[in-house]
Amino acid sequence: MPTPAHVLVLGGTTEARALAARLAARADLRLTYSLAGRTAAPALPGGTLRTGGFGGADGLAGWMSAQRVTLLVDATHPFAARISANAAAAAAATRVPLVTIRRPGWTREPGDRWTLVPDMAAAAAALGPRPARVLLAIGRQEVAAFRAAPHHRYLVRSIEPVAPGDLPPGAGTILARGPFDEPAERALLRDHAIDTVVAKDSGGAAAYAKIAAARALSLTVVMVARPPGPPALPTVEAALETIEAHLATPRGE
Ligand code: NAP
Repeated sequence: MPTPAHVLVLGGTTEARALAARLAARADLRLTYSLAGRTAAPALPGGTLRTGGFGGADGLAGWMSAQRVTLLVDATHPFAARISANAAAAAAATRVPLVTIRRPGWTREPGDRWTLVPDMAAAAAALGPRPARVLLAIGRQEVAAFRAAPHHRYLVRSIEPVAPGDLPPGAGTILARGPFDEPAERALLRDHAIDTVVAKDSGGAAAYAKIAAARALSLTVVMVARPPGPPALPTVEAALETIEAHLATPRGE
């Protein structure tokens, strides 16, 4: 009997969870779902959970060899550039097929007032010299970039607390986990008299309500572009189809 396929899903996104849940339902494969360990109580899809970094591309390749991974799925966030680069390098080193899924970015709608910027430092600069009231909805890892523009009034929303040393002076904080709906986002923006939203072009529905709310209120959105990544499939269904094709291909045992 051939050993069952071992699929390693690098996760941390809605798509990763959905895809892993579909794979976990199959009896003919072993599934490992991997998280960086940034979130204290993550929603889990099934399969075996492993948490924490692998130790770079070499560490990931070593783990994959030791655990006899036969298929690697990179379903990490569009802004998680390091793990995606590691996944590509480890897949090449171990000659394990790699399937990458990345949801498409958002597109500008009529009424959107976006300023597109390449990174967080540019986002902080794009806020300009005039004091603004800013919602930072970018997660917690890159908030420190806005310490370079301390003349604005910031409200920082994140799932986990921001390190106090990373906050711009006087910043307010909100801990909340999406998905958020548009009426609630409009209320938040109004209640805090926000005039500018800083967001990452994450794509997908779960984080979009703030963009729609900003459009409805004619607010500026400073939109941080995605880092470049490898070619990717746009949906869970497309990724599952490709995964099926790999699983159906004999592995030369
Ligand atoms: P990153 O900068 O690309 O990764 C930093 C390091 O974290 C990686 O080098 C790796 O450590 C470890 N890592 C990342 N994802 C991992 C995973 N799924 N399993 C095991 N180790 C992982 O990533 P990030 O931006 O910090 O994001 C971390 C996680 O949060 C990702 O899983 C991502 O999908 C999720 N996430 C990120 C964002 C975002 O905006 N960046 C938003 C929502 C969710 P080693 O090199 O030691 O292996």
